[in-house]
Amino acid sequence: GELKKVLILGAGYGGIVTAVHLQKQLGLNEADVTLVNNNDYHYLTTQLHEPAAGTLHHDKTRVSIDSLIDSNKIRFVQGHVTAIRPDEQRVSLENREDELEYDYLVIGLGSAPATFGIKGLLEHSMGIRNIDSVRMIRQHIEYMFSRYRNEPEREDYLTVVVGGAGFTGIEFVGELADRIPQLCKEYDIPREKVRLVNIEAAPSALPGFDKELVDYAVSTLEKKGVEFLIGTPIKECHENGVIVGDGEEIKAATVIWTGGVTGNPLVEEAGFEVQRGRVPVDEYLRAPNYDNVFVIGDSSLMFNDEGRPYPPTAQMATQQGQHLARNLVALIRDGQLTPFKFETKGTVASLGKGEAIGIVGKRKLYGWTAAQMKKLIDLRYLFIIGGLPLVLRKGKFF
Ligand code: FAD
Ligand code: NAD
Repeated sequence: GELKKVLILGAGYGGIVTAVHLQKQLGLNEADVTLVNNNDYHYLTTQLHEPAAGTLHHDKTRVSIDSLIDSNKIRFVQGHVTAIRPDEQRVSLENREDELEYDYLVIGLGSAPATFGIKGLLEHSMGIRNIDSVRMIRQHIEYMFSRYRNEPEREDYLTVVVGGAGFTGIEFVGELADRIPQLCKEYDIPREKVRLVNIEAAPSALPGFDKELVDYAVSTLEKKGVEFLIGTPIKECHENGVIVGDGEEIKAATVIWTGGVTGNPLVEEAGFEVQRGRVPVDEYLRAPNYDNVFVIGDSSLMFNDEGRPYPPTAQMATQQGQHLARNLVALIRDGQLTPFKFETKGTVASLGKGEAIGIVGKRKLYGWTAAQMKKLIDLRYLFIIGGLPLVLRKGKFF
């Protein structure tokens, strides 16, 4: 009969891992597989705090899709998905008349910033989201430093506010704190003029994480010159900065929002059931009521045995992609689906150069050891998607 059409949307952690594993397991002409992504590269979101701060070139955090995908087995289409129509089994792309059809759909379109309705946030803040956004953050910070020399009354040019002290906020301030002394030198600015303020609504940074490790992180970052405002929600964001808790204004020419993520709005627009923007999937990663639609990564929602939602992570998206590829092969060959079970390998977060915190198994890691572990995790991921050649090409060993 006709070949089954598998359509994968998004080449992030979930999508690219699904694609790479599918091409390994499928023979030639066993299925008609298409991968759609808005860029012709895959980027390493888990490292984006570095190019955002300017401590690493963004090219080190992206990989061309060409170099990962075997075009004999998977067709790559560069395009921006504008709508998913699950009842018609069709997907439309921007500036394209014809629509893509599928028998099986994989949605790996990642996340969108959660704004919690905070006024002015989308207009006046930037986010650590993709290559385009981090390139802009780096340039923006540098430009503000350069402007300060010409308008020295504008001290707000030298203030960076980071909204949210989750893992993204913490990793970014750690990285930027390392970069600030270099920027000060480059732009002839005394270090004490610069403010890097991390603002967190919850009663602690990294809410819910191990207290000892949080304390270590906060004191390490404070020593590097990060100011924390904890238990202080950002209420509003405008051109000149933010308004916090009690109405106090913090003037800042740079506001980076790391206050959380929600699913890609396309999944809700498609009519899938969502909870806070994410699709609650079953044990086979299927969307409710659509047995041929799989949602993985940040747009999906899964619960642990205690009924608590798993946080959206690359670790989760990667495991889902690996599992889903096996199940898709089974479907194509009329086999049996196997249920997905997340196995946490732990959490490690960077605090800047040579510093990190983490929990791996039952072990708490600090400092240099944790930083080495972080490098290993990054290398392991490169190995999963591109084998040794990619590890050698993009890996950071020092
Ligand atoms: P993504 O990796 O975001 O990929 C989505 C893809 O879809 C992208 O390629 C995008 O270009 C594409 N796309 C989006 N919309 C469209 C469209 N309309 N049309 C076409 N293509 C589209 N998690 C960890 O487990 N460990 C970490 O150490 C870690 N560190 C992080 C550090 C930072 C700074 C950040 C921001 C996040 C970090 N995370 C980490 C979280 C992790 O990055 C995400 O959970 C992960 O990227 C989710 O993978 P995904 O496949 O769902 O989406
Ligand atoms: P998050 O949701 O984990 O953290 C957002 C933080 O912003 C929270 O602490 C929240 O209390 C705070 N916040 C929300 N509203 C606020 C407000 N109005 N004012 C001030 N603070 C506010 O989001 P994230 O840090 O972007 O992480 C997203 C996902 O990616 C998570 O699942 C995280 O685990 C994962 N991640 C993992 C790593 C790692 O493992 N190294 C690194 C980055 C991100």
